[in-house]
Amino acid sequence: MFNQRIKIRDLLKSEPENQQVTVMGWVRSFRNNQFIALNDGSCNANIQVVAELGKFDESLLKRFTISAALKVTGTVIPSLGKGQKLELKAETIEVLGDSDPEEYKLQPKKHSLEFLREIAHLRFRTNTFAAIFRIRHALAFAIHKFFNERGFVYLHTPIITASDAEGAGEMFRVTTLPIDNPPRNEDGSVNFKEDFFGRATNLTVSGQLEGELAATALGEIYTFGPTFRAENSNTPRHLAEFWMIEPEMAFCDLEDNMDLAEAFIKYIIRYVMEHNSEDLEFLAQRLAEEEKQLPQDKRSELGLIEKLKFVVDNPFERITYTEAIDILLQSTPYKKKKFLYPVEWGIDMQSEHERYLVEKHFKKPVIVTNYPAKIKAFYMRQNEDGKTVAAMDILAPGIGEIVGGSQREERMDKLEQRMKEMNVSTEELWWYLDTRRFGTVPHAGFGLGFERMVQFVTGMSNIRDAIPFPRTPKNAEF
Ligand code: ATP
Ligand code: MN
Repeated sequence: MFNQRIKIRDLLKSEPENQQVTVMGWVRSFRNNQFIALNDGSCNANIQVVAELGKFDESLLKRFTISAALKVTGTVIPSLGKGQKLELKAETIEVLGDSDPEEYKLQPKKHSLEFLREIAHLRFRTNTFAAIFRIRHALAFAIHKFFNERGFVYLHTPIITASDAEGAGEMFRVTTLPIDNPPRNEDGSVNFKEDFFGRATNLTVSGQLEGELAATALGEIYTFGPTFRAENSNTPRHLAEFWMIEPEMAFCDLEDNMDLAEAFIKYIIRYVMEHNSEDLEFLAQRLAEEEKQLPQDKRSELGLIEKLKFVVDNPFERITYTEAIDILLQSTPYKKKKFLYPVEWGIDMQSEHERYLVEKHFKKPVIVTNYPAKIKAFYMRQNEDGKTVAAMDILAPGIGEIVGGSQREERMDKLEQRMKEMNVSTEELWWYLDTRRFGTVPHAGFGLGFERMVQFVTGMSNIRDAIPFPRTPKNAEF
């Protein structure tokens, strides 16, 4: 019976009253031939197991090596050691799985995050990554809770799609054709009629278009699933496989959309602050230590928890794209020619520009609205000025873009005209256009990159440390 064990998290919350319990976990350390620090992943803290001197065989003690799996039954007693309320006086200790310390790659010392990525199968066993993945879970749970409380329907949009119209990013092809010798048309091009689906298909870059179909019947939906972008950009903010949350709301304009996105972000952060304080404190300390290595001007002004509290307690700044460009043109780095990329109305703002706005100018999350139509997707609602669309991006300190969204173009004539201008096939998207033909309504939505959110909350500077098994150019190990 394995499920008679008590999780260490629950045990540490209880009072020591000489009760008998069984715990199971992995050895973090073994000191003085007597004290075992045991961790079972239920929380950051270890339980101290006391193996009284003389009580256990020397041959057994030798097997209490780092990462060995143990089953311990004993009595819960008050601890004399400091920093812990209780400890477990062992009656029996069983080694469930040995671990050869000579071979074990995760030695008990400081490792770089880069090295830990190379042993991603073991990094769950570090305090840092256990905390990150517990928080990742809590965020996912809070996301479902938030939308469920508001009556949104969780919609599963397809992972394999035939539409390449969204233009959000480069796509991964899905095919069963032999790559070395595919069937060809007379002109030499690959004949996808012979392919599994009878047409060319790809992994989805976004569930939005399908989300709109459901939102214009169910009212309010959200997706939460994997998306794939074959973007060859090796940045600390891009993955080839990432998870996205995409709510889509009928009867909703740009302002409603911003209000929802802001409430949503605050809600899920608050949830983690309330439920994962131990892990957050651990990561805050990790970050503070990491930042000690940086020059003074590169360090954050706020610690991790203060930063999160600040985001939750203060309204996000809301500015138009045009205002954002004006601020950049007035900025010191612009005047001193410190920006690498040019600044003028019409540019797609680069990360350096977004970070200036968020980190230097406003020092809080910023929602930028009404971008030039030219740099945004075909489905965004055209504004009266004939130049901009009702788009909104949310920019976060240290991350840059965390949310991208818009009010959608619900007017058939305007949408079709825009699709023609941008070379998006109206025939291929006949099903999408049907929503505008039959009972079209103002509607809006956004996409939040889940790993960027995890990065923001955990303070990790590289997105590869916010997902269990990162997929990036030239890397698909594990
Ligand atoms: P960026 O300019 O940072 O590449 P984007 O404009 O391509 O972002 P959208 O297409 O609006 O992003 O996607 C919605 C959200 O998905 C973004 O705000 C971001 O949080 C997240 N996102 C986009 N691309 C990636 C990626 N390659 N890896 C992880 N998250 C991503
Ligand atoms: Mn992109």
